[in-house]
Amino acid sequence: MPNSNPLIIDGKVISEKVCDSLKPRIERLAEKGIVPGLAVVLVGDDPASKVYVGMKARAFEKMKLYSETIHLPKDTDRETVLNLIDDLNKNDKFHGILVQLPLPSHLDEMEVIMKINPDKDADGLHPLNLGKMILGVDGPLPCTPHGILMLLKYSDIDTSGKHCVVIGRSNIVGKPIANLLAQKSASGNATVTVCHSRTRDLQSIARQADILIAAIGRPEFVDHRFVREGAVIIDVGVNRVDDPTAKRGYRLVGDVNFDDVKDIVSAITPVPGGVGPMTISMLIANTVYLAEKPASN
Ligand code: NAP
Repeated sequence: MPNSNPLIIDGKVISEKVCDSLKPRIERLAEKGIVPGLAVVLVGDDPASKVYVGMKARAFEKMKLYSETIHLPKDTDRETVLNLIDDLNKNDKFHGILVQLPLPSHLDEMEVIMKINPDKDADGLHPLNLGKMILGVDGPLPCTPHGILMLLKYSDIDTSGKHCVVIGRSNIVGKPIANLLAQKSASGNATVTVCHSRTRDLQSIARQADILIAAIGRPEFVDHRFVREGAVIIDVGVNRVDDPTAKRGYRLVGDVNFDDVKDIVSAITPVPGGVGPMTISMLIANTVYLAEKPASN
C-alpha cells in the first residue's frame, strides 16, 4: 500500500533542537571563562569544501562560539600543514581542530588526521577516537554518523532489533555508522549489513532493510527497486547535478531518488535539509564536549 504521508525527517529542526540542548553546557563553560573554540584547516579551493567551511563558521557564530578558518593554498607542502596542526594543538583558544576533507592528493589524509591531538579531534576521526568508538568508550564521535543517530532518536525511530543496511564503507560515514548501529547501546542494538561496490545483488539486500542508509556519492542511485515498503531511509549523499534552470547552474541531490521512493517509505531524510545540518550541529556538540574535558582547560 502506498504511503502518501511519509515522515520527512527535518534535519534543520532537529539540528536546532540539538543546538538548544547544548546551551546550558555552553553557559556553564562561560561561567568558567571558557568559550569553546574550533580551528578549521582548509587546504585548496575545492568549491564544496569552501561552502561547508563557510556553513560551519556561520553555525559557530550563531551559537556565539569561537571559530577560525585557516585557509592554505592548494600546493601547501606536508611540513607546513603538519607544523600548523602542531601549533593548533598547543593553542589554548582551540578545543577542537577540524581538517576539511578531501585534502589535495599530495597530502596524506591519515597522516594529517593522526597529527591532531586526539583530545582536540573535533571530527572524531583520529584512530584513537575511532578505537574508543568501537570499544564503546566515551569520546568524540564522527559527526555525520553521530548526526544520523540523533536524527533517528529525535524522530522516535528505534534501532533495536532492526535490520539496518548501510550502502557505503567509507571511514567517515559507512564504517562508523555501521559500527554505532551494531553497538550494545540505546542508539544501537541493530543487525547491520554493510554493502559496497562489490556487493552482489545489492537491490535485494537493500530491500531487506528496516532502515536503509545510503552513503554512496552517486546521484539518486537508490530508487524503489532498493526499498521495502515502510522502510526508513537516511540519505547521506550530497551530489551536485547540472541544472541550467538553477541560479548557480546546479542543484544538490542525494544518493536516493526521493520522488521515486517517498510513497513507499515510512520516513525519509531530504537532501538538502536532512543529514547535512546534523553534521554541523554534531561538530558543535563535539567542540563543546572537548572544551568540557579537563585536558583542554
Ligand atoms: P566515499 O568515500 O566515496 O564512499 C562511497 C562508498 O560507496 C564506497 O564504500 C563505495 O564502495 C560505495 N559505492 C560506490 N558506488 C557503489 C555502487 N555502485 N554500489 C554500491 N556501493 C557503491 O563517500 P563518503 O565520503 O562516504 O560520502 C558518501 C556521500 O555522502 C557523498 O555524496 C558525500 O558527499 C556525502 N557526505 C555527506 C555528508 C553530510 O554531512 N551530509 C558527510 C559526508 C559525506 P567501495 O568501498 O567498494 O568503493
